[in-house]
Amino acid sequence: MAIKGLHHIGVKVRDAQTSVRFYEELLDFKKTDEFRNGNSHLTFLRAGTCVLELIEKPEIERMPAGNIDHVALDVDNIEEIVEKLKARRVEFVNSEINHCDWIYGGVKNIFFKGISRFTSSKPSKFAFASDEKSIRRTTTSFVRRCPKKTEERKMVNKQKDMIASIKHQMRGGSGDVEVLSLSEERPGRVRLFARLTIGPGCSIGYHVHEGETEMFAFVAGRGRVRDDGEFRDVQAGDSMVTFPGHGHAVENTGGENLVLIAVIVLE
Ligand code: MN
Repeated sequence: MAIKGLHHIGVKVRDAQTSVRFYEELLDFKKTDEFRNGNSHLTFLRAGTCVLELIEKPEIERMPAGNIDHVALDVDNIEEIVEKLKARRVEFVNSEINHCDWIYGGVKNIFFKGISRFTSSKPSKFAFASDEKSIRRTTTSFVRRCPKKTEERKMVNKQKDMIASIKHQMRGGSGDVEVLSLSEERPGRVRLFARLTIGPGCSIGYHVHEGETEMFAFVAGRGRVRDDGEFRDVQAGDSMVTFPGHGHAVENTGGENLVLIAVIVLE
């Protein structure tokens, strides 16, 4: 059973903004990610190797303050460890491993219950998380994201139900980029289907795509892209395809938001 270490600690907070200020100003934590998922507001902060997930949601008002919501352990092979614990009759909160591609560019996780149920409080929750690299190694993980029956598939996604996340200094770029996942249900080989909004003066840093192709359709604004070593100006109506082993960067050079639709297809 290979636990690599602590992945993060999830803490319930009443007011994320105040808590973020506390951790940033007093403890030198840096905000790395921020997400809205339904009525939950999740903020990830890092200091050294310590990662906190601050969880703000309306029902927390009625809960005791300062509760640890869950402790997430970093593992190499999530399927193996879950199978082993299920065989020992450990109680899981979710029956299947989740694939959350809106956290850290993709994690797999599953929650299970701790053992101290003799107290009046609820047992502590534990979670396993493994990063994108291990997802890539496990080819079966993408299959699970497709519902087995066609009739269960949603064809229309309403914008109000979509999950938006704010990426700070995305891929080493500057400022904030909003990533709106356009559909949680996709073919297994489509790793990303999202609308990216890059504010004026903001950018996505240069990065190379290994084992996958990324396609951009620019729908609003003006920008400048790096296509491997070459720089090109782009605007609404243009598109760009970055094939496996190639790299790109995107910078908003206009006065308005640069908006693009991004699709990543695994090889
Ligand atoms: Mn990219």
